[in-house]
Amino acid sequence: MFMGMNSKESSAQVKPKFSELLARPEVKERWEKVRKYFFLRESTYDMSNRCNIRCDGCYYYEGEKQFAAENRDVAAWRKLMRDEAARGITYVVLAGAEPSLVPELLDVCYREMPLGSIATNGFKKIPESVGYKIHISVWGDDETSLRVRKAKDLLKKQIANYKNDPRAVFVYTFTRENIDEVDRVARDLVAADCKLTFNVFSSPVGYQGPLRHTDESLQRTRRMMIELVNRYPQNLLFSVYNAVAHTHKCGLHDLYTCSYPRRNPSQDIGLGRSFRQYRTDLSWDRSAACCVPDTDCDDCRHYAAGSAVVTARLYRHANDLSTFQAWLDYVDTYLAVWVMGYEKSKNLCSAVVEPPRRDAG
Ligand code: SF4
Repeated sequence: MFMGMNSKESSAQVKPKFSELLARPEVKERWEKVRKYFFLRESTYDMSNRCNIRCDGCYYYEGEKQFAAENRDVAAWRKLMRDEAARGITYVVLAGAEPSLVPELLDVCYREMPLGSIATNGFKKIPESVGYKIHISVWGDDETSLRVRKAKDLLKKQIANYKNDPRAVFVYTFTRENIDEVDRVARDLVAADCKLTFNVFSSPVGYQGPLRHTDESLQRTRRMMIELVNRYPQNLLFSVYNAVAHTHKCGLHDLYTCSYPRRNPSQDIGLGRSFRQYRTDLSWDRSAACCVPDTDCDDCRHYAAGSAVVTARLYRHANDLSTFQAWLDYVDTYLAVWVMGYEKSKNLCSAVVEPPRRDAG
């Protein structure tokens, strides 16, 4: 999830050329809009070890975290949130397995930490009193959901639960098998005036099943994403650069250098210093901590990972105007996806811009 700049990436140290990048009023305005959120510092929390559906390729049911006991004690969660705020956390991501099964815990988190989001399958509606962004996972049309997630009429149910809900963002995960289905899923979501964004299936460690992407399926995914960005600018929270970053044949770590503790030994600054991934028993393990634990890092193109890993790389994206505009579109997209009340602006860059080289800044 989104994180603020670390000191190496701060605007104060960007080359003098930075002022030239801001010469156009629309670019300056976008920069001023997004930089207000650089204070966000996230951690993530598994709320429940149960789920009401079971999906192929779910990363929650990989590794050890699935065996942690559930702590259902509201007072313990209240104390955790207060301790988290005291160490500088300003944003919480409530996830795995299915948070909607523990609404009393969501409620206490929201009361203590007002900025955050919840990742849910959307089957059971989260009470409106919990004012976080709600990310509803969509893995294809209803036929595919029945096959891959063993859930009948899931999209209809999700839309019925979250239509006209300003918290809701539908997150369509592109797998190798569902690329063309997005067409009708997006049409149905737009017809109901829902907001949506895109994710790319990122294999759990050891997963070699049919959902795993190939170079060819990534290219097809990119083309489809860009087509839909152009078709549904009002409802689709995405940009061309989002498509490029998440469908590149190299994963996010190769492209941008992942800064989550699991891949980053440094504890000096940024996510390496502050990020924790709490299990359902409220324990955490630095060596396993990232926003999508037990995902194969080489195959990681997850939208949650990108929102931290790409946004943190301001400095690399500040060498030319197109690349900087692409980065601004990316940050603007992710704030619209993750922060209540933040509205996405029109994308600044419609060109396909290659991710900058690691030594670009
Ligand atoms: S899975 Fe992704 S976010 Fe997690 S450590 Fe690996 S590259 Fe980073």
